[in-house]
Amino acid sequence: MSANTDLNARKAAAVPRGVATLLPVFTDRAENAELWDVEGKRYIDFAGGIAVLNTGHLHAKVKAAVAAQLDKFSHTCFQVTPYESYVALAEKLNALVPCRGEKKTMFLTTGAEAVENSIKIARAHTGRSGVIAFSGAFHGRTMMGMALTGKVVPYKAGFGPFPAEVYHAPFPNEYHGVSVEEALRYLDGLLKTEIDPSRIAAMIVEPVQGEGGFNVAPAEWLQALRKICDDHGILLIADEIQTGFARTGKMFGIEHSGIQPDMMTMAKSLAGGFPLSAVTGTAEVMESAAPGGLGGTYAGGPMACAAGLAVLEAIEEEGLVERSAKLGTLLTERLEAMAKKNSLSCIGDVRGQGAMVAMELVTDRETRAPAADLTKALVQAVAKKGLILLACGTRGNVIRILVPLTASDALVNEGLDIIESTLEEL
Ligand code: PLP
Repeated sequence: MSANTDLNARKAAAVPRGVATLLPVFTDRAENAELWDVEGKRYIDFAGGIAVLNTGHLHAKVKAAVAAQLDKFSHTCFQVTPYESYVALAEKLNALVPCRGEKKTMFLTTGAEAVENSIKIARAHTGRSGVIAFSGAFHGRTMMGMALTGKVVPYKAGFGPFPAEVYHAPFPNEYHGVSVEEALRYLDGLLKTEIDPSRIAAMIVEPVQGEGGFNVAPAEWLQALRKICDDHGILLIADEIQTGFARTGKMFGIEHSGIQPDMMTMAKSLAGGFPLSAVTGTAEVMESAAPGGLGGTYAGGPMACAAGLAVLEAIEEEGLVERSAKLGTLLTERLEAMAKKNSLSCIGDVRGQGAMVAMELVTDRETRAPAADLTKALVQAVAKKGLILLACGTRGNVIRILVPLTASDALVNEGLDIIESTLEEL
């Protein structure tokens, strides 16, 4: 029996099926944008740990910072005996995050927890309970995260009831015929007829929907949301858990629209593989929760904070924001060239922002019917050729690329060659 087969059998016996795995290969080691399985097979990593590895696997700076921290202490709990790295990272994010005025930051471990805490703070600040999220959104697997998430299967099915007073409005999607005007008209109608805006604490939005299919929020729509929030005293939360830290060709996706949210949630790439998430917001808003109301045993752990400081240094020193924009051009040009080939009419749309690029696979370009089976087959077939690729989208037919920004052009082209040749074969 091969090492992977053996481990898959052990997984099936020991781990519930709800914890699904994309590929039947177990990881042995990884470096920058490459990974090797337990049988020694090499893969180019276009998944980047699901948007966690903007600085690549085991970046030298992150490794050194975590090793240095391990020589001192691994855990105390910030709420018992605090440590400097938490404060230093908060100071860095306060300087970087484009929220209004003076800012403050708190840390947690996962993205879903950051979302939960942003809603807690919004409710404490406004004294209101309602929250508006958008169709196709993904905000995590906790109770509030699921309530805010748009897609039911597999994220929500069988797990309810969810927290009350969560409403969904359409996210604009030109490719599928939802214009900015229509999306805004619906939201306006909701606020006039179904929901009393004075009961809404917050609106939460992804600048580019990640799990929902790499749908880019048009700048004018985000600007309109900002105005609606201001008109009604609603706090605007930008969920940058997938878009953050140079992925979109800017430090944060919201910067493409020029608006300033009241709070921002961050996680994933913040600490290059160590569990760390953050909520940064306008100081007055962030101060709304009473002492002891925020935190957690592992929230903002010392190793994760050391890694986070190293990630931010690496992004700055290596010019990864600029690199993301260049990589985005390379990815988009190559995918668009593929879409022009007669043999690849299954590519219905190529879209994204910076190095957050995706293609939507269809069975028919006219009807835009989803090619979900082809998408699944592509993911499995490219893996056999040594490429790790992720799908997403509410209809399961979007191929997304989240390659580390530290990958070379040659490696990225090698991965794209695998996608092109495999799609031709399927
Ligand atoms: N919000 C967004 C936009 C995400 O993409 C994700 C994860 O994919 C989450 C929240 C949840 O993060 P986590 O899985 O770390 O809880």
